[in-house]
Amino acid sequence: MATILDWSGAAACRGSEGSLFYSADSAERKEDRLEREQLAKRICSGCAVRDDCLRAAIDRHESYGIWGGLNEFERRALTRVV
Ligand code: SF4
Repeated sequence: MATILDWSGAAACRGSEGSLFYSADSAERKEDRLEREQLAKRICSGCAVRDDCLRAAIDRHESYGIWGGLNEFERRALTRVV
């Protein structure tokens, strides 16, 4: 069985600003959120472990942040149709 440690070493986001992947401010403006998420998703798009990351986030019901190139709303929508 794979664990998060099996794939996290190959994460493209290693060393990136965590604030790109998570909102630092609950009152973040929509435009700022979209811009921040776009930058994070750009990193995810070139990540070799994107599928593992997304699967782990869904399995753990991650409530916040960009995982596997999707934000929490996109992950919830994905699990509703699967
Ligand atoms: S998919 Fe994105 S959040 Fe997940 S490990 Fe890769 S770069 Fe990091």
